[in-house]
Amino acid sequence: MYPTSVHPLLPQPTDLDPPAPTPAHPLAVLGGDVRVRVTDGRLLPYANLDVAATAPCAAVAAEAVARLLPTYASVHRGAGALSRHCTRAYEQARATVARYVGCRAGDQVVFTRNSTDALNLLAHAVPRGADVLTFVGEHHANLLPWRRAIRLPLPGTPDDAVAAVDRALRRHGPALVAVTATSNVTGEVWPVAEIARVARRYGARVVVDAAQLAAHGPVSLAALGADYVVLSGHKLYAPFGAGVLAGRADWLDDAEPYLRGGGATRHVDADATVQWTGGPARHEAGTPNLVGAVALAAVCAALTETCWAGLARHEQRLLDRLDAGLAGVAGVQRLALFGPGHPRTGIVSFVVAGLESAEVARRLADDHGIGVRDGLFCAHPLTRHLLAAVPAAATPAAPPTTAVRVSIGAGTTVEHVDRLVAALAQIAARPGGRCTQSFGAR
Ligand code: PLP
Repeated sequence: MYPTSVHPLLPQPTDLDPPAPTPAHPLAVLGGDVRVRVTDGRLLPYANLDVAATAPCAAVAAEAVARLLPTYASVHRGAGALSRHCTRAYEQARATVARYVGCRAGDQVVFTRNSTDALNLLAHAVPRGADVLTFVGEHHANLLPWRRAIRLPLPGTPDDAVAAVDRALRRHGPALVAVTATSNVTGEVWPVAEIARVARRYGARVVVDAAQLAAHGPVSLAALGADYVVLSGHKLYAPFGAGVLAGRADWLDDAEPYLRGGGATRHVDADATVQWTGGPARHEAGTPNLVGAVALAAVCAALTETCWAGLARHEQRLLDRLDAGLAGVAGVQRLALFGPGHPRTGIVSFVVAGLESAEVARRLADDHGIGVRDGLFCAHPLTRHLLAAVPAAATPAAPPTTAVRVSIGAGTTVEHVDRLVAALAQIAARPGGRCTQSFGAR
């Protein structure tokens, strides 16, 4: 069956090229039938290879939202039947997410807007005077919120990373270690469980930024031995606007509310003296994002062990194909911190000799209907570090200042990957031309 519908915001079809059939994968996502017109006038199925920025919405999330909307009513604020129903749905969503991220007895799940919000909330809750250890290559969301940060230089190997945390904790004493499970620039998997083991020896806590990992495998506080985990719904096949901070309750209960307002209070006097409530509500003032929480929970419930196994097979097959394809394109130079053989998820960043990355991304979009990301990926220090390591001989015209990132997931097909590789071969063989619109500063 070939998809036939055209997105209403896009031009209507004139010459429909039937796309290759998509291989079955266990998590159906929306948008597979969206087509875009390219410069030669053809309508092509949109190849979304920017899944690491925002993943397409899972069908189960859309269905959960559709079921919920007719019963739309206030959450934690009303006595009516629908309010009670919505309150129950919100708290059930919290319980589902808690199970999904392996919460232990006493752990909390706070719904946030996204991972950035979750990490800022935790930074707000870190006890005053406590140091936070990070690596300088973290995504800005895990680099910038910390008040008393000790930023470790980028390690050359995973073992170096663990040893650097060990040394820093020995020198500086207990702290919070904030580390990303999977790089959003290279897809490389970091030794989070080993870092957590070292941290425990020093009585330090660990927060795992699972914004990327969550879309490629199960995330479990218990399995990682971590104290906190953050993730974003929109990277986990749910709609925008819901994220999670899960983990130990004590710092969160001791901290001033992240947001001050209704829902976070136990009692307010006439002079606005407040007794704040405890638990997740302390940091969720204001009417919560019920739809986002329910959609995210629907995805978490669908991502069973069997589903993950199927998705992992699907992604690995595509990643192998992508690796082999890119290896055959002259002029493509890949970025990696730990080296090409290190385990990674479906993210590949690279530069193309003689071309600005913005120009490569523009040509992929305009001429081939392929969406990728270019720039520094909100991880400026890491990406600049990796760009500086590109051998001068690989990009003789000028040293690259930004990169292209391709990322795959549940909605990606063999045809998307093959089209990308063919397009890159064409683009790399005929460099020239400059892009006027760049997203390089992001
Ligand atoms: N951490 C990592 C590793 C990311 O890749 C991202 C986003 O790309 C974030 C944190 C921030 O996520 P969000 O933009 O959803 O807050």
